[in-house]
Amino acid sequence: MSSIKNENFSEEKNKVEKGTLYLVATPIGNLSDLSERAVKVLAEVDFIAAEDTRNSMRLLSYLGISKPMVSYFEHNKRERGGEILGRLAAGEACALITDAGTPAISDPGEDIVALCAEAKIPVYSVPGPCAAIVALTVSGLPTGRFSFEGFLSTNKAERKKHLESLRNETRTMIFHEAPHKLKTTLSDLAKYFGEERPIALCRELTKKNEEVLRLTVGEAVAYYEIHEPRGEYVLILGGATQTTSACDWESISVQEHVERYVNEGMSKMDAIKTVARDRGVAKSVIYKEVL
Ligand code: SAM
Repeated sequence: MSSIKNENFSEEKNKVEKGTLYLVATPIGNLSDLSERAVKVLAEVDFIAAEDTRNSMRLLSYLGISKPMVSYFEHNKRERGGEILGRLAAGEACALITDAGTPAISDPGEDIVALCAEAKIPVYSVPGPCAAIVALTVSGLPTGRFSFEGFLSTNKAERKKHLESLRNETRTMIFHEAPHKLKTTLSDLAKYFGEERPIALCRELTKKNEEVLRLTVGEAVAYYEIHEPRGEYVLILGGATQTTSACDWESISVQEHVERYVNEGMSKMDAIKTVARDRGVAKSVIYKEVL
């Protein structure tokens, strides 16, 4: 390794700069995933802004780093964001870390980055693990085009609006989910996208009990009727099929929709399943209509 020249590495580039915000990605489970540069930046900045200071303290003591910390999380982000900005403007260097993964993805990191952008304060990423990307890459589903959807709201109306807006999404979709909400989310996915839609349930990524289940949404619902969800999940949901796009099928009858697939060479049963997936209904509904 030492004989390989790292063209993009220079002591100069890797020096922590004053008055700069560093977004430091931390492991999503496996501590060995922390990068050499992340450790260096954490050790050299003036202070660390952490989503959960107690949680981050464990990481820092594992690394043998002792550093002044401030908390920065959803409910103090406004007032604390202003304070952090003031310190950056005064020339201090700050590392932002969250509970796990890449700051600014599904956490308040995006707000402080926006504040810095507005105030023309430099922001650098120290890249590393991101649960959504780890899950997408192991899902076995298309990765060419994808849409990150984060957490579904617990507010019924917002959740419905969000899911309805995705009914015809052809890109692979990425959702975060907590174990205690998984069953409800799976039954909503079955309702809006149909039972035949492929899904990868990526659990405890990079950890001891890492597991990726590649199922249909209907199979996932059945699986979790028997098994209790445990750990952290990222759900990767296949997009609506490309052949019959949304605006297309909204203007044709169910019968025509099925025929279109049959004419493309699908068996009638596969065509029924695909139509059910496109329209976000159970295949029995389509089956009844075309018989
Ligand atoms: N910024 C983080 C990132 O880049 O991964 C995501 C933060 S979000 C608040 C936390 C969510 O990420 C969890 O609820 C879960 O959906 C997902 N997550 C984090 N670690 C995970 C892991 N090891 N396995 C599966 N999902 C994980």
